[in-house]
Amino acid sequence: MIDKNLKYCCDFFESRHRSYNHSWPNIMIVKYTHDFFINTNLSKNKINSPYRFWITFGHEVFSLDNVMINITYCPFCGKNLFEFYDSDEYVNEIEGKTFSMIK
Ligand SMILES: [Zn+2]
Repeated sequence: MIDKNLKYCCDFFESRHRSYNHSWPNIMIVKYTHDFFINTNLSKNKINSPYRFWITFGHEVFSLDNVMINITYCPFCGKNLFEFYDSDEYVNEIEGKTFSMIK
């Protein structure tokens, strides 16, 4: 459960993040634990960050089979998500704990 006292970049991001497991467009923050997933070069801003930010359409468990898109900036206020949400407090799911990427 996400702490209700967390500070968010904006109200729109907060409402989408707090409802991340509902079946409407929402935002999920995932933490990866394997270096293979952390040290990717998909974006300059993602280097060495264990966090990823996804717009999803609801899911039971995180999986790359879910319909979703990876984002770097808040779609509502434009803040860099890697700078603002650099803490486990915001994480919805953790690789190796709530889901596994390696089968
Ligand atoms: Zn925002």
